[in-house]
Amino acid sequence: MLRFDQLSYWEREQYIVGNTFVIVGAGLIGMSTALSLRERFPTEKILILERGYLPTGASTKNAGFACFGSPTEIQDDLCHMPEDKVWETIELRLKGLEQLQKRVPAAAMRYQNCGSWDLISASEKDLDPEFIPFLNEQFQKRFGYAHVYQKDTTYESKFGFQGFQVAYFNAFEGALDTGLLIHQLHQQCSAQGIQFLFATEVIKWESSDDDVLIATTHGELSAQHLFLCTNGFAQTYFQNELRPARAQVLLTKPMKHRIKGTFHSDKGYYYFRDIGNRILLGGGRHLDFETETTTTFDKNERIRAALLNKLSTEILPGQAFEIDQEWSGIMCVGPEKKPIIRSLNKNVHAGVRMGGMGVAIGTAVGAALSKLV
Ligand SMILES: Cc1cc2nc3c(=O)[nH]c(=O)nc-3n(C[C@H](O)[C@H](O)[C@H](O)COP(=O)(O)OP(=O)(O)OC[C@H]3O[C@@H](n4cnc5c(N)ncnc54)[C@H](O)[C@@H]3O)c2cc1C
Repeated sequence: MLRFDQLSYWEREQYIVGNTFVIVGAGLIGMSTALSLRERFPTEKILILERGYLPTGASTKNAGFACFGSPTEIQDDLCHMPEDKVWETIELRLKGLEQLQKRVPAAAMRYQNCGSWDLISASEKDLDPEFIPFLNEQFQKRFGYAHVYQKDTTYESKFGFQGFQVAYFNAFEGALDTGLLIHQLHQQCSAQGIQFLFATEVIKWESSDDDVLIATTHGELSAQHLFLCTNGFAQTYFQNELRPARAQVLLTKPMKHRIKGTFHSDKGYYYFRDIGNRILLGGGRHLDFETETTTTFDKNERIRAALLNKLSTEILPGQAFEIDQEWSGIMCVGPEKKPIIRSLNKNVHAGVRMGGMGVAIGTAVGAALSKLV
């Protein structure tokens, strides 16, 4: 690979020299930040540096749920986070989803307003009867969303599931095509004159009064502002505030099934949906938190076995299926779920810790990050 000092005059002028904003990471947050910066600064040079030949974290690997919180997950969050932070995080997800739908037309990312179901296993404790009315009241009062959650008694006959005792339906969540979404953002960036260097890893940076010197695998460049949008790979800068969290996914071969929509269970630790005639199932990280605190894209056989068991006993009971593809991606979690949107100094800024909901939250995080300069 050529070093920057071997490039032509044209190449240097086009990509390396005179960048006002350099963004590290071409995932949802990096590209959303670039597009929001462009809205504020129509003529400044913006460059995105991405270490992979594709974005290599979570944004091209996720399940494509446009979601903001299932009742069991919100209940769990209310037990572990200060209440105001829980509502602030939900508000950011709702805003992010609204902004995403303004930025990318529904058809262009194959957005389906299919709703979601929170399924409670027979072995789990059901929600307190007061909790759903409480949630609905809070969503109405705080965000103006009416009747968000309701009990659904038809899910078993409709979808053929087994082993769940109750389901709560949310009409405001949906599903989209993850590949199309990232492609749309990439196209919009290109159309807005935002440039990319793929296969270029940022190794370190050094701030001075006027700019930031950025060392990459191919040489150095500078910018007036640097944005770190590296989510699960940002631990060096936020030791106690975040950690990587691997998430594993199985995809069946095309088959006949009755499932239509997005589904969560076990406080959001499992999630599944239809992709046409296939079923995508992911999650199970809570079965082995320690091993899954990693940035390596491997498989965890214990979690894989649990996912297969869930498919055969609860999701597709009595139905033959075959796994066609499987992959993992790296998310970012921390002691709380609210993203970190912060300046580290005058010219370095970070938008990280998406807590596994970057599809929803990403556009709002990018907008907030762009306002730090
Ligand atoms: C299996 C799975 C399922 C998920 N399902 C959903 C879902 O249904 N709905 C939802 O809302 N969210 C979901 N998520 C989470 C969502 O995908 C993430 O929150 C979101 O993609 C985070 O975007 P990001 O841009 O912050 O991070 P990433 O997409 O991880 O992007 C960070 C980028 O930074 C690059 N990078 C890192 N270090 C460097 C460096 N030093 N130099 C250059 N580049 C660097 C990486 O290669 C990467 O491309 C899921 C995640 C996974 C893994």
